[in-house]
Amino acid sequence: MPLMPLMPLMPLKPLPPLIDTHCHVHFNAYKKDMDEVIHRALADGVFMIAVGTQTTTSQKAIEVAERYDGIWAAIGLHPCHTQEQELDANEICSEENVHTRCEEFDLDFYRQLARSPKVVAFGEVGLDYHYFKEGDDFEELKKRQKEAFLKVIQLANEFEKPLIIHCWDAHDDLLKILKTHPVKKAGIIHGFARSYKTAKKFIELGFKIGLNGVITYSDGYERMVREVGLADIVIETDAPYISPVPHRGERNEPSYVIEVAKKIAVLKEKTLEEVAEITTNNAKKVFGLNLN
Ligand SMILES: [Zn+2]
Repeated sequence: MPLMPLMPLMPLKPLPPLIDTHCHVHFNAYKKDMDEVIHRALADGVFMIAVGTQTTTSQKAIEVAERYDGIWAAIGLHPCHTQEQELDANEICSEENVHTRCEEFDLDFYRQLARSPKVVAFGEVGLDYHYFKEGDDFEELKKRQKEAFLKVIQLANEFEKPLIIHCWDAHDDLLKILKTHPVKKAGIIHGFARSYKTAKKFIELGFKIGLNGVITYSDGYERMVREVGLADIVIETDAPYISPVPHRGERNEPSYVIEVAKKIAVLKEKTLEEVAEITTNNAKKVFGLNLN
């Protein structure tokens, strides 16, 4: 039998690096193995933005970012932390309920933190009316969130840094604020899970749309993902929350961001390489990163 000619070996083109633009790799969920989780991501070619949610986690995000090449920090006060409350584990895809402390946005404290060269954005910040409970003074809580958000905008403009915005059930109010208090550097609407019509309003203001694992297990956003241009998309995990398929039920981690990119590639009928390259470039531009 004649020998089959050997197929020439096709050089495997490595996938361009990915940037997980929103993770909480410095949270307690990784208390035991944070360094392993980080090494796993970096070894897979995944860079990441560690996002703070209040004073302690913002400080921690910087500490971790300062220890690693390939990690940068965002600092801010999550709207849910402007109120003391119990967040339901099921709803936020956490192992346990999260008790939030009440904080005000301390301009001087965050101004000090923002001096670290590793701080590339203010986040996560924004508005969240989803968790209001019966008996809460809605107007008072909204006022507190808006006040904090305005202070963040002031600081972001002072440092000319972008915002990483969290918004749940408050898009109209958020748009109103962004129109009346323009930001110098737009940033990202993170964990976007609304219609294209809403996405377009933020894109018109210069924001990128941050997509996470939700699009891998919910078919409610397929149309939106198809309609938003790749030039306006960045990818994220929001780890430890919102694990993508096929990791549902597990703790999420930054290396899983590839599942989000894969799903975008399928929905938009693009190659994974294209999605990786364009979303990484988008993130680099937003945060002013130089990966070389
Ligand atoms: Zn988050």
